[in-house]
Amino acid sequence: MTAPSVLVAGGGIGGLSAALALGRAGWPVQLFEKAQAFSEVGAGLQLGPPAVRILQAWGLGRELLQAACLPQALVCLCALSGQELARLPLGQRAVSVYGAPYLTLHRADLHSLLLGAVQAGGCTELRLGCEARLEGHSDHDVTLSWPGGSASGQALIGADGLWGATPWLTDGPPRATGHLAYRSLIPIDAVALAQRRMQVSVWLGPRLHVVAYPVRGGECLNLVVIVQGQPPADPQSWDHAALGADLQQAMQGACTALQDLVRAAGRWRLWTLFDRPPMRSAQDMARGRMALLGDAAHPMLPFLAQGAAMAIEDAAELGRCLVGLAQRPDQPKALPAALLSYAQARWPRAARVQQRSRRNGQIFHLSGPLRLARNAALRLAGPRLMDLPWLYGHRVAL
Ligand SMILES: Cc1cc2nc3c(=O)[nH]c(=O)nc-3n(C[C@H](O)[C@H](O)[C@H](O)COP(=O)(O)OP(=O)(O)OC[C@H]3O[C@@H](n4cnc5c(N)ncnc54)[C@H](O)[C@@H]3O)c2cc1C
Repeated sequence: MTAPSVLVAGGGIGGLSAALALGRAGWPVQLFEKAQAFSEVGAGLQLGPPAVRILQAWGLGRELLQAACLPQALVCLCALSGQELARLPLGQRAVSVYGAPYLTLHRADLHSLLLGAVQAGGCTELRLGCEARLEGHSDHDVTLSWPGGSASGQALIGADGLWGATPWLTDGPPRATGHLAYRSLIPIDAVALAQRRMQVSVWLGPRLHVVAYPVRGGECLNLVVIVQGQPPADPQSWDHAALGADLQQAMQGACTALQDLVRAAGRWRLWTLFDRPPMRSAQDMARGRMALLGDAAHPMLPFLAQGAAMAIEDAAELGRCLVGLAQRPDQPKALPAALLSYAQARWPRAARVQQRSRRNGQIFHLSGPLRLARNAALRLAGPRLMDLPWLYGHRVAL
């Protein structure tokens, strides 16, 4: 009999985290990624204390801090006047209240950190250029196939993202939400001195919001402008060359400092936003010998900045539920129950984050009197409204 192994479809942040956690839990892993090579794609990510704590427990804390920035505050501003509405201290407060820092970093830096750890762990066979699809499953195993090959294992973790082939929970295709995200990475030298701050800034305006934070140790400012608009013709693609002129048009009415910041960006990429309805039960996340993880299970709008963090938390919980099982004689029977435990632990939290992300989108883009009421509430009770202990205080048992 061959040694038991877990198949992982997808080599994004979620798939690599799953491979790392499963390797640490004693499982050999075969990971299949459809891209021919891992490339430097993406821009900024925010990672709150729960995900940072997991990466630290996996021994990646030092490298993570080298690649990341440590913002000192989350600051809400009015996009029209530029006035500060509210400020939540991060920095040392995040460490003392939630036990780990709040970080910002480039997706490619986090990805290469995880890839290096997976390779160093020696438990994972990485197969690039394999666009995997589910071939079949039985009481004993699961089989994936791709043009030119197939592989079987004791379990399948679908970590192939929003557009992946393994999700079985499709209520139809993902839904375009009517939001467009313009993203740019600006060398810090090109940014006005007043905007070179070690903080996450969020400008709220009618039907748009703008997020800026430093990445790459402060070398670049990650800038995202989210507006409401129609998706382009081929919405599955992450990036489209975007016209700065469209953006300038959308930004009319914003304060001068914000318009100047947007003008400082040389090159924009356009990203159409999609999501799915929040999960409703553990069965949405695990069935038999198969489980979903990260965006494949619970794609979410980026308005709470939690996509990567949720994938990392999923992976840590998966490792916890499957630890030591590979070597146990009752593994064939116990594995589906362990995957169900994983789903039961994860789905309510991930669904709550999906819901909250949608709600943030509505609150961020309010116009008219509701916008003024929101701004007044932020001025009065900002830190209390922005701090989310249920989100940042969560601990996956490691
Ligand atoms: C190219 C890219 C750039 C991104 N940039 C940003 C960003 O700048 N900011 C941000 O906040 N978030 C970004 N994200 C999203 C963020 O990384 C995810 O929301 C989060 O990390 C969850 O990751 P995931 O691994 O679940 O899904 P994803 O990051 O979507 O990873 C899924 C992986 O599966 C692979 N895949 C898909 N189908 C198959 C298949 N059939 N067989 C095998 N492999 C398959 C994909 O190529 C991809 O590598 C990006 C995602 C991608 C794919």
